[in-house]
Amino acid sequence: MENLIYFGVWAAVIFFMMRFGCGAHIMGGHSHVSRTNENESEPLRWEAPEQDKDPVCGKMIRTRTAKSSVHNGSVFYFCSRECREIFEAAPDLYTGDNSIDHEAPQLEHSK
Ligand SMILES: [Zn+2]
Repeated sequence: MENLIYFGVWAAVIFFMMRFGCGAHIMGGHSHVSRTNENESEPLRWEAPEQDKDPVCGKMIRTRTAKSSVHNGSVFYFCSRECREIFEAAPDLYTGDNSIDHEAPQLEHSK
């Protein structure tokens, strides 16, 4: 029963949004969607850094080839599946503010 109430609330919210909010001009200006994505940076789009630090073993790794894991809305990268498994077994050990901030990052290029 709770799900039904929840659904009803959302339906009402969406209805009002469509009616009075942003939905109105989406429907009105349907054919005139200009693509300005190239210059504007979308807040939803998240780009991975080129390199990141494996929180488990401390190695710098290339994110393109690294194993990744999401914890508390942040993405973490690992040099290997083993490191990721260790992390996922106890992520709080590695995401707590006592480990990362105290070590100086070893990036040479300041970008
Ligand atoms: Zn590692």
